[in-house]
Amino acid sequence: MRNLLLVKYAEVHLKGQNRPYFLRMLMKNIKQAVSPFGAHVRLHDSRIFVSGYTDENACINRITKIFGVHAVSPAVEMEKEDFTAVCQKAAELMSGKSGSFKVLARRADKLYFLDSPKIAARVGGYVLESNPKLSVDVHDPEHSLQVEIRDQALLYVNSFPGAGGLPTGTSGRAMLLLSGGIDSPVAGYRIARRGVELSAVYFHSFPYTGEPVKEKVITLARILSGFCGKIRLHVVPFTEIQQAIHEKCPDDFTTLIMRRNMMRIADILAQKEKALALITGESIGQVASQTLEALMCTNAVATLPVFRPLIGTDKLEIIGESVKIGTYETSVLPYEDCCTVFTPRHPVTHPKLRQAEYAEKPLLIDNLLDEMIIRAVDGTEVIEIG
Ligand code: ATP
Ligand code: MG
Repeated sequence: MRNLLLVKYAEVHLKGQNRPYFLRMLMKNIKQAVSPFGAHVRLHDSRIFVSGYTDENACINRITKIFGVHAVSPAVEMEKEDFTAVCQKAAELMSGKSGSFKVLARRADKLYFLDSPKIAARVGGYVLESNPKLSVDVHDPEHSLQVEIRDQALLYVNSFPGAGGLPTGTSGRAMLLLSGGIDSPVAGYRIARRGVELSAVYFHSFPYTGEPVKEKVITLARILSGFCGKIRLHVVPFTEIQQAIHEKCPDDFTTLIMRRNMMRIADILAQKEKALALITGESIGQVASQTLEALMCTNAVATLPVFRPLIGTDKLEIIGESVKIGTYETSVLPYEDCCTVFTPRHPVTHPKLRQAEYAEKPLLIDNLLDEMIIRAVDGTEVIEIG
């Protein structure tokens, strides 16, 4: 008899011909996550089993964060021949519980001497007798005790929900524009959950934005990497561009022009990273630079597709999600970001692309902008996270 973890996978089931590929990636990610605990991972009968670990809770914690995992159940595996022992174990698993329950039995071994309904009835009867605080409810039970008869008997009650989505590494790479705010980490999480590997870029306007903001972005990237594996974070020196915009462009267009230049640089870095898309935390109307017109003006300079997974999401919902994924506390640390230092008093809210291009013109004299962009890209610091 031994304890193990039963990992159920989510959408991977639907992947038809590509299923072995998705499963292999999922197995690889699970193996990597539990390797510090000496665990053994194996695929058997379309399910994943993790065993031999030194710390069960730590393994559960790691595995539930892996994209592609639907749920994790701590289970007991034992000899199936002694059915009374199976019943005793079932009673033991249910011993501290009260309320309604049901036994779900499955018999993969068709030669077993009891069929599924009989297994459920016998185990249920035994459990009921040994725990008077329980009653049976087959329609809407509070607890489900699962008994599976395969090469061995497998019993489990509790189940911890997994992160869902698709295994990291099955959908290519995208470049996340990661600020220290609430939105962009959530945006990155949503895309990563679809199996996409992340690189990240942070535009640092030192000394207007101090080192603590950079540290905050590094922390956010580290939290995200707990879900989606290694992230290469690109810290772009952005002060020169920021100042030039401030000095040379009309005040009401400065934020928009800043955003366009973030996009340009992110696009260049993304291509270096072989990323196939950019990701931002923008949401319609949240600030002046996120009206449909403003989004059109920033979008116009990107060559890669720009994903904005929060585009139709309310701020309160985004906050809720950031709490859930664990980035909120870091995001709300009160450090000034560059946008607040350089924020114009009356930013345009309904800019036309032609107006934005015109406002940007002073930067184009003597190839100033091109040169500044090259300097920013060349001066970019790359930090490996995770
Ligand atoms: P967030 O909460 O993600 O900072 P925000 O509500 O502050 O977003 P903006 O400042 O307009 O909104 O930024 C919109 C998006 O642009 C951000 O979600 C992020 O993807 C990107 N962005 C903004 N500032 C930076 C920065 N300094 N470095 C990298 N990306 C940035
Ligand atoms: Mg921001």
